[in-house]
Amino acid sequence: MGLAPWIDLILCFMLFALLLYMFVSVTITNLHKVYLGFHISMMLWPYCQFAIKTIENPTYQLFYVKLAFVDAALLTTGFIWFTILLTGQSQFLRQKVLIGLFVPALLTSLGVIFNPNGWFVRPVNGGYIERTYGPIFWVNISILIVHAIVSLYIIYIALVSDQAPRIKNQVIFMLKGIVAVTACVMADIFLNVVLDDYLPVIPGMTSLGILLSAIFFVITINRDKVFDIVTIAHQDIIDTMEYGILVLDDHEIVIEVNQSLTPLLQLQIGDCFDMAGILRYTTATLQSFLDSYRERPLETAEIELLLPAIGRYIHIHAAPILVSGSRVGRIVTFQDITELRRLINETNQQNISLQERNESLIRVQAELFETNHKLQKMAITDSLTGCYNRHYLTQQLENELMKNRESHKPFAILLLDIDFFKSVNDHYGHLAGDAVICGTVEVLKRTLRHTDILARYGGEEFIIYLPNTEHAEAQLIAEQVKASIESNRMVIENIDQPLSVTISIGLLAIHDFSADTARQATSYLNDLFKSVDKALYEAKHEGRNRIVYSKGHP
Ligand code: GH3
Ligand code: MG
Ligand code: MG
Repeated sequence: MGLAPWIDLILCFMLFALLLYMFVSVTITNLHKVYLGFHISMMLWPYCQFAIKTIENPTYQLFYVKLAFVDAALLTTGFIWFTILLTGQSQFLRQKVLIGLFVPALLTSLGVIFNPNGWFVRPVNGGYIERTYGPIFWVNISILIVHAIVSLYIIYIALVSDQAPRIKNQVIFMLKGIVAVTACVMADIFLNVVLDDYLPVIPGMTSLGILLSAIFFVITINRDKVFDIVTIAHQDIIDTMEYGILVLDDHEIVIEVNQSLTPLLQLQIGDCFDMAGILRYTTATLQSFLDSYRERPLETAEIELLLPAIGRYIHIHAAPILVSGSRVGRIVTFQDITELRRLINETNQQNISLQERNESLIRVQAELFETNHKLQKMAITDSLTGCYNRHYLTQQLENELMKNRESHKPFAILLLDIDFFKSVNDHYGHLAGDAVICGTVEVLKRTLRHTDILARYGGEEFIIYLPNTEHAEAQLIAEQVKASIESNRMVIENIDQPLSVTISIGLLAIHDFSADTARQATSYLNDLFKSVDKALYEAKHEGRNRIVYSKGHP
């Protein structure tokens, strides 16, 4: 047999392979792809039967017999696959299972193709119109039966599982298809193979079965829109999205538009989209967006703008649709952000007023802090002289004395009183008396160290705490104080000559803490005051303008 007759067939197969490649490579669902292969395999069987009976050359007859049975093995395998997809039994869709499905079909197909020792088929009367079958044929038939059983099992699982009623309907139709094809194939085998010697050949039985099952499948597919589900779902998703979506080809012609876009733009498939037209007015930002949209179509461009025609704020986002790096069109989304903008503006407004309130709160807080500070100061300050009051001094001393006792630090206390002050009041009046008290305090403040604490003890009596001070130093300070007061000439309003006063001082210096460790601060302090008061009293008694050292240790 020459090569010539095969050339057209080879070309036909190449065209067929091209068709398969086309369908496998384009973006359609797996179900589409499997059904396509399945349907072509179904068409192949009747065609082979026709060829066997019309060709006289036994070699070609044998070729078509082999092709028909290889096709049958692959057909039933494809049938299982199709059943899996249609019944939604995706647990069987693993690669191992799918490869496992094809192995027996491929093995038996090898047996059919090589037909060793005529174990598959033998000619009768020198041709294959009438033929006898060997064991490989029966293996082939057994595999077909096993495939039918597996399909039935998958259908059974789908029926007993809690699948959706839609899937159950599909499954019932498939079942009818399988019953039809199985019945016809069995009848064909029984009548034309088993009872071959007794009955004339009845043509077309298996082909009829295949046609019947294909009709059932087509009904299933069309009734429930099985093939369209994904497309319908995509359209549903696109239509229910709140974004307006516009798909354009590379000539800006609308090829897809969703429902959400309709309130914003009236566009239909086939319209030419004009981005500049919808912008209507020009600003620098709009112009730059438009330039980028027109001149750099491979980049994404986006903008927020007010569409004057509908008075709404829109966010437009344009992105190229690329296939293998080249642009085939673009997708433009339109998001109505009016509400979002309103919320943002509202939030900004609230933020501003919150900030203002915050600032005024901070101001009030600062005022409060200052007032508090003043109050605290007032609570510890003598209003006439501005030096500490007795209350503050007592508090401070309680702490200080305890610390001094613990660390054995020496300290001293001076109690001083203006001599004959009553006569100042009597001669010059109470206001002059106040001025003398203040003048005396000024001198005291100037003379003392900054660590010393001066407090008004009452009337014209003052107490001075000298921390970390030995007896001798305290004595020196007391003398300085006394001398500077004595030499101070106070010029007072409405009084002709400057006034000067003297003071008497009681001095108590502590350096020995051995006897005092266990005593309470308050009682210890009271005793200290008593002692120094006694010293002051003695100073007055001894003639005033002098310092008396307290001898009695509290
Ligand atoms: P001595 O030398 O014994 O201290 O005689 P003295 O006159 O100073 O007597 P004493 O200390 O007992 O009198 C204090 C007087 O000071 C009594 C009171 O009228 C007056 N005085 C007390 N507080 C104030 C004050 O804030 N302003 C004025 N102007 N006088 C006061
Ligand atoms: Mg006095
Ligand atoms: Mg006094």
